Amino acid sequence: MSKSSGCLEWDEGAKQLLSATCRNCPEPHFQRRAPRLPHIGCCAYEPVFTLFEIYRMIEAGQTDFFLNQVYRHPDNTVCEYEIIVGARIDSLFYEKQAGEDEAPAERYHRLLQSPRTIYQATDERLAYAVCQFFEDGRGCGLDPRFKTGICRSFICTSIEDQLSVAERKQLADWQRVIREEGEPFHRREQANLEKRGWTLLDHVESIILYFTELAQVKKADLHR
Ligand code: SF4
Ligand code: SF4
Repeated sequence: MSKSSGCLEWDEGAKQLLSATCRNCPEPHFQRRAPRLPHIGCCAYEPVFTLFEIYRMIEAGQTDFFLNQVYRHPDNTVCEYEIIVGARIDSLFYEKQAGEDEAPAERYHRLLQSPRTIYQATDERLAYAVCQFFEDGRGCGLDPRFKTGICRSFICTSIEDQLSVAERKQLADWQRVIREEGEPFHRREQANLEKRGWTLLDHVESIILYFTELAQVKKADLHR
């Protein structure tokens, strides 16, 4: 079931916000640096899967997807309790353009050297990045149940500026629903895993088994 509010659409099943405005992204911050780069809006991004999204994959019986396309993907970074999904970086990032002193990659490394310009370095790299789940002509190719809270809730200022006061309030309510679903789960389960001394780095099989049992208990409770 979906509901609309102004140019926003709320997908109740996947608990995600969508907007037709995204088909022709007007947001200045996400315009591409070169004509040959695809127009992907804010999917120039590296989502971070928390324990909530990982649990959702296992609960949905998609453990192979989690292991092979998320956990073992060579571009992803596995941390103790989350996984950073590495973006595909266009080759233009490494090429010095006519009239420029340095390639974007060199600029990126220079900006990384100072704490005052680190955020500019991130922008420089993401200007040439495409989320690995983005599909040309289709948009997000990831099962919406596994999308991160940020991917399901992010709405830029170009869209917010089009909303009435009532629509902004509705937006804030939907964003709260998304936060309240995933964040407490992640905090609670991180604490549970810490008590057991488990991390995604060293105990992924045990965590998969634990989440499988958690999903079975949840299913049994629903049928009671
Ligand atoms: S949310 Fe905003 S920045 Fe992202 S694709 Fe839509 S219009 Fe562009
Ligand atoms: S997971 Fe989907 S919505 Fe999120 S950045 Fe990637 S392509 Fe975009």
